Amino acid sequence: MSVDPVAVAAEHFGVVGTATALPGYLDENHKIETADGSRYVLKISASVSPLQDEMLKAIADRTPYQTSGLVGSTNLEDGRSARLLTWVDGMAFADAGRPPSLARAIGVAAGEVANALAPLEGGAPAGISTWDLASGVETIRSMAPAIDDERRRTIVLDAADLLDTLDFAALPHQVIHNDLSDDNVLVAGGAVAGVIDVADAVWSARIAEAAVAATYVMHHQEDPLSVACDLVGGFASVVDVTTDEAAAIWPLIMARMAISVVHSASGPRDNIHRTKSEAGGWDILERFHAGDSTMMRTELSTAAGHPVTSTETTSVLERRHRLLGPPLSLAYEEPINVVRGSGVHLYDERGRRYLDCVNNVAHVGHSNPTVVAAASLQAAVLNINTRYLHDEVLRYAGRITATMPDGLDVVFLTNSGSEANELAIRLVRAATGNYDVACLEGGYHGNTTTLVEIGPYKFAPGKVPEPWVHVLPSPSLGTGYDEAARRVLAGVPALAGLIAESIQGSAGQIVPASGVLASAYESVRRRGGLAIADEVQTGLGRVGSAFWSFELHGVVPDVVTLGKPMGNGHPVGAVVTSRQIGEALGGEYFNTFGGNPVSAAVANAVLDVIEDEALQANAAKVGSYLMAELETLAGRRLQITDVRGAGLFVGVELASADVAGALVEHAKANGVLITAAGNVLKIKPPLVFSEQDADRVVAAIDAGLAS
Ligand code: PMP
Repeated sequence: MSVDPVAVAAEHFGVVGTATALPGYLDENHKIETADGSRYVLKISASVSPLQDEMLKAIADRTPYQTSGLVGSTNLEDGRSARLLTWVDGMAFADAGRPPSLARAIGVAAGEVANALAPLEGGAPAGISTWDLASGVETIRSMAPAIDDERRRTIVLDAADLLDTLDFAALPHQVIHNDLSDDNVLVAGGAVAGVIDVADAVWSARIAEAAVAATYVMHHQEDPLSVACDLVGGFASVVDVTTDEAAAIWPLIMARMAISVVHSASGPRDNIHRTKSEAGGWDILERFHAGDSTMMRTELSTAAGHPVTSTETTSVLERRHRLLGPPLSLAYEEPINVVRGSGVHLYDERGRRYLDCVNNVAHVGHSNPTVVAAASLQAAVLNINTRYLHDEVLRYAGRITATMPDGLDVVFLTNSGSEANELAIRLVRAATGNYDVACLEGGYHGNTTTLVEIGPYKFAPGKVPEPWVHVLPSPSLGTGYDEAARRVLAGVPALAGLIAESIQGSAGQIVPASGVLASAYESVRRRGGLAIADEVQTGLGRVGSAFWSFELHGVVPDVVTLGKPMGNGHPVGAVVTSRQIGEALGGEYFNTFGGNPVSAAVANAVLDVIEDEALQANAAKVGSYLMAELETLAGRRLQITDVRGAGLFVGVELASADVAGALVEHAKANGVLITAAGNVLKIKPPLVFSEQDADRVVAAIDAGLAS
């Protein structure tokens, strides 16, 4: 039932102009522009209360903000009312880039609007609007079935339960605008300029004015809780917020966000104004639901001027120090309490989002739904060791050997990279009858007794390698490598093998110089040894132009070890080798968990996602984009002395380890997680990384170096 807005404006209000449709939830809104440049809003509504005009007048008279003035109103033939309002300049917060710096000013505006409306008496509906938090519990519970996803349904129902704990009726009540959303707060010149759309006014809890504004200002923010706290602080600077009101803010925010998404799920999907807040709302709800409710409630109450003395006696950090092994290290000066991961993002207990460029284990993205589904489905059916026949592990072994050079055709499944490398060492010793092992300077291969002896990366300062360990020079050494390696191996008649990464990870993304790996393999084979390629960090498509990083060097190893990304976080590792080497071990190799059906299902799902989402190609594309951008940055920022890597396995070498350490902390403060090995920044994100994500890392490094 639409009317001709141009005709209505001309016939009823004498305003001749052109019409453009504007957003409207229930009302039909049109912008009318006349030839002389005057602008109006024509609002066609099913019902209008006299209160709306009183509210507009109160806001205009008692706040510094512009709002619509009533030019005239009339009833249309179809029974609806048409009102012509003056245009308000400014841009909706949602369209103005959502600057978090404006949050406090929006809070002040919400407080001033609430104060302006406080003297208004009657006419406002109470508890009947499905947007009124007074009836939020019933609204959410009755509309939640429209949400298909069970997990999301739980989130909104939990919000209803939380709201149900409040004594809502006891909170101070008055007329409130009830929809100071990101569309209805207009900003200009870095300040709040106007407030529009009083159609949702209700007689309700005053503090809901702040909670509603906070709900929408948080959408799409990296650190939504801080933004909400700024807003609440602004509100409390002009409104005398009571202790009970302060404590109600958190439940009211969660409930309003839930009310918003249940409306989106229930309403007609073709009305963009019903669904435009949906993605932003779910994003925040999911973050907050996983977060620490007590902490968020406390922070918001404190921001409103009512600090809550925490009942929590010991922090997670204190408990960790008390309970976990002392040598376990923690990242960052102020460690992050992560509570959720999704795709390329991690979230802390207050819903803050971080771009994760560290966790290469989450190869196909944190909490990848395909992987999660595979794990839970198989876990619900059967989990058992490999002494029984089971197809899932065979399917995996077949798929993984198909990606390897001919001859590497048997698989041992393990639970970690360390276990895989430990077995690889046993295999090469058994197959050759030799004992000594060569490794590369800077290498790391795992945490077992044997592997720490062949992991120079973790050697204590001044450590002399065991007599059976021969540390070849760093593969970054180009010319002269052969000679240097020969010196190390002089007097070593026989070797069991060499263990080497084809791009070193822990050492700082060290790409072997051309020909170095081939030459190292050759010198070891001349002494009867076998070559173990440790693909724990670099395998499964990460390096972009190849599925395995040894392929970049034209070498064919005798044994390949895998780990980290195989299970996307579920513990899975593997050794792939020839039948002959595999048989050399003799006796039985038993592994209680290795190759169990759940792990195999997970590992198969990871391969599915790599294939279905073409993640190797993405690593190649986004990786070259990232490296090119970093090289451009290196032209401007001279503290960058080298950019290297392959695909999404990138190193940025800086002038000193101090600069690198400071930069890691700075980037974290900017919401970007990177790690450093000495003076090298390491970037090895989930492969679902995009060019925009790459831009964000480069900007964070740039900002860090600028400071
Ligand atoms: N090899 C390499 C190259 C590694 O980087 C690591 C772990 N950092 C390992 C082996 C050991 O794997 P895990 O920690 O799964 O035992």
